[in-house]
Amino acid sequence: MSLIVVGSMAFDDIETPFGRSDRIIGGAATYITWAAAQFVRPIRQVSVVGGDFPQKELNALEEIGVDLEGVQVKAGEKSFFWSGRYHMDMNTRDTLVTELNVLENFDPLIPESYQGSEFLMLGNLSPDVQNKVIDRLRHRPRLIAMDTMNFWMDIARPDLDRLLKRIDVLMVNDAEARQLSGEYSLVKAARSILGKMGPRYLVIKKGEHGALLFHENHVFFAPALPLEEVFDPTGAGDSFAGGFIGYIAKTKDISFENLKSAIIVGSALASFCVEKFGTERLREIRLDDIHARIRQFVDLVHFDIDLK
Ligand code: AMP
Repeated sequence: MSLIVVGSMAFDDIETPFGRSDRIIGGAATYITWAAAQFVRPIRQVSVVGGDFPQKELNALEEIGVDLEGVQVKAGEKSFFWSGRYHMDMNTRDTLVTELNVLENFDPLIPESYQGSEFLMLGNLSPDVQNKVIDRLRHRPRLIAMDTMNFWMDIARPDLDRLLKRIDVLMVNDAEARQLSGEYSLVKAARSILGKMGPRYLVIKKGEHGALLFHENHVFFAPALPLEEVFDPTGAGDSFAGGFIGYIAKTKDISFENLKSAIIVGSALASFCVEKFGTERLREIRLDDIHARIRQFVDLVHFDIDLK
């Protein structure tokens, strides 16, 4: 089992209509790794932080079996900082501040010990950096999954188009799928992305309305668990990605059938993430909690129908 996770490690400042987090630890790779570590160890992390990033956070990752050789620490520089405010629906948000800091000139380092990894999860980052990671791997992993966002579609489309041709699984939200394809219908968007752009699998995340997995002419739906309270949706997409790729790395099975299971696992991890601020809930849960929650997902959608 060998998984490389690439992405931001950050300070976040999150405001929701119900509370405020102040400066907490976030970043796409942080969420992905806390979720994926439920299934696979070691995780080989590739990221960059400033000298202001707490050593105790790095220690906590090492304790759960994360290899940090590929995490550069730039003493005297500041870590990536992001701040966002959620609307009343807790599904949409405004970015208030993005300070790239160490991410501005991020040149990803792939330690020799990471070579030969079977699975690669490219968290949301500039497509130029995501491309560089693939360039620097001597053997193509068996499965490459990636996340991206509207920001990169606006400013780095040529790099993004090149990257899409090199990966297997694209994970985006509904608005991003529409922007990427220019199609409003998600079925048409999927046909266009899978038909022309490169990925073999497409996951479209729809927040509290679940996620769709497209492959060739097939489509599969995973619900989101209806939760009584959502404290902080930040990182839900990344926790989904971490659960998805962690489960695939554990089972080593890249069939469509197993990818279906993986998006249910991803949905379960996302449902935990939103229950507390930041990564707090992901750090508490154990495999038993995940199994119990997956049973809830099964009950949610299972029905026997006997048409008369
Ligand atoms: P999500 O809610 O799953 O979209 O992910 C939120 C996380 O992504 C936060 O913890 C942020 O630190 C991180 N993030 C936000 N914008 C960016 C960006 N432009 N590049 C890299 N990471 C980002």
